[in-house]
Amino acid sequence: MIRESIQLEMNFDGTNENRFKQRFDLGEFQMLAELPVPSADTPLADAVRRASDFEYLIHSQEHPKASIAFINESPSGYALDMVQFATELCKYSRDRHVLYLHGRDKTAKDIQETLHHAFSEGFKNFCAVTGAAVRGETAAQTRKHAFLESVNLLGEIRRAELPSISAGAVVNPFQYTPESAYAQSFKMFRKLANGADYLVSQYGWDMMKLQELIWNLSRREINIPTVARLLFLTPDNAEQLCSGAFHGVHISPDFESLLRAERDHSSAQFEAAQLRRIQIHAAGARLLGFSAVQIAGVTNVSLLETIFNKIREAFREFQSFEDWRAAYMEYYDRLDMAPYPHEFYLFDKLLETDRPAEQLTLAPGIAPMTRGERFRQNLSGALFSNADKLPAKERRLTKKLLASCRACDMCRLPMTDYVCPEICPKGLANGSCGCGKADGGCELQDTECAFAKRLRIANAKIDFSSLEEGAVPSLEKRP
Ligand code: SF4
Ligand code: SF4
Repeated sequence: MIRESIQLEMNFDGTNENRFKQRFDLGEFQMLAELPVPSADTPLADAVRRASDFEYLIHSQEHPKASIAFINESPSGYALDMVQFATELCKYSRDRHVLYLHGRDKTAKDIQETLHHAFSEGFKNFCAVTGAAVRGETAAQTRKHAFLESVNLLGEIRRAELPSISAGAVVNPFQYTPESAYAQSFKMFRKLANGADYLVSQYGWDMMKLQELIWNLSRREINIPTVARLLFLTPDNAEQLCSGAFHGVHISPDFESLLRAERDHSSAQFEAAQLRRIQIHAAGARLLGFSAVQIAGVTNVSLLETIFNKIREAFREFQSFEDWRAAYMEYYDRLDMAPYPHEFYLFDKLLETDRPAEQLTLAPGIAPMTRGERFRQNLSGALFSNADKLPAKERRLTKKLLASCRACDMCRLPMTDYVCPEICPKGLANGSCGCGKADGGCELQDTECAFAKRLRIANAKIDFSSLEEGAVPSLEKRP
């Protein structure tokens, strides 16, 4: 890389300048590259030195619409301070970049401190994530941690009242059962209602699901920027993907066979296949209506530069949806991209056209409430309708019998359709984490996701407001 080509843009701290946000407003397609914050035992100076080429590339004139997405890959928190690392690394144009803030083991006060520190250093773009279970962690271990949910984290970003900032939220559209797909959809609308300015999709390779996301927003006439996160596959992460190591990322048996076959080729052939794949997916995301792509899995600077250039080539190659669709179909040779036998989509005719029908009709499929659920609902409604206004320990035994109460300090039953949030190992009350299994099961235990029950109840009442409106407070301490 030629370092002389660095764009010396000044940082305009204290002004209303926010280039990341302005590019969205101007409709300029952006490319973000993920940079994981190094682990806490890395000396800060070493971490900055190692990442300096990455930062130079992003600031070079050849990539004027590029930004860094700082992420924390270590949900246990064993990482350097993100703001300190980003500040030391980026001397200029900090308003181009995005800091992902997670809520695992975080309080509202922690988030306020981080936001104000970041803002004082010139960072203005944030993305709210709840935080994940650490790989290999059991449900019981996860239950020891409190999660400030992304919905509440968005509320904190708004509460900070910092000028010209933007707040993003993550959504996982790659859900293949009616309950899991609708649960993520309602949570997405709740995030928007709580102040998300843009959305970032989880990575996945089924382009019908990316279009489903765009059509779902368009069904409600919501026009906000959307970022398609794309994972660049290496032999290692392809193996992890095939073995199901990425929670909430589901691939079809057909796609798995294709990846395994590619892994048998030479490393050069494998990389060439992945470069072509990322071209097709990035160009498709743009033609489907996404405003940006976010490249995950690449910290090698020369590979990242190649990827950026290849993506731009693909933008020139695919000028129309029809051209791109033909290439996508041919590339995957009509492979089934849904993780059979789970293949639910919110809409018909996805990828047949780039524009949704005037009247988009959602697919049915949510199962009816069971008799037991109906019985508990009726009784809980009679007994607990004001449980949130009473001391949490009131009627503890009845709550235990009817709602599997785990004895927390703030009863939220009336806000959650009388389904105790604590049956979810993360204690989530505002929506599913999006990391469940392909069959809709919880990622951490052998039960269905707690939000499948919430969906059935809301569906029976034909009232989904409890899933998409307002914000249920998060606990700061788990029971
Ligand atoms: S929210 Fe759940 S754990 Fe907390 S008091 Fe109510 S029923 Fe019990
Ligand atoms: S119950 Fe659902 S939301 Fe909770 S951890 Fe399991 S999959 Fe995630």
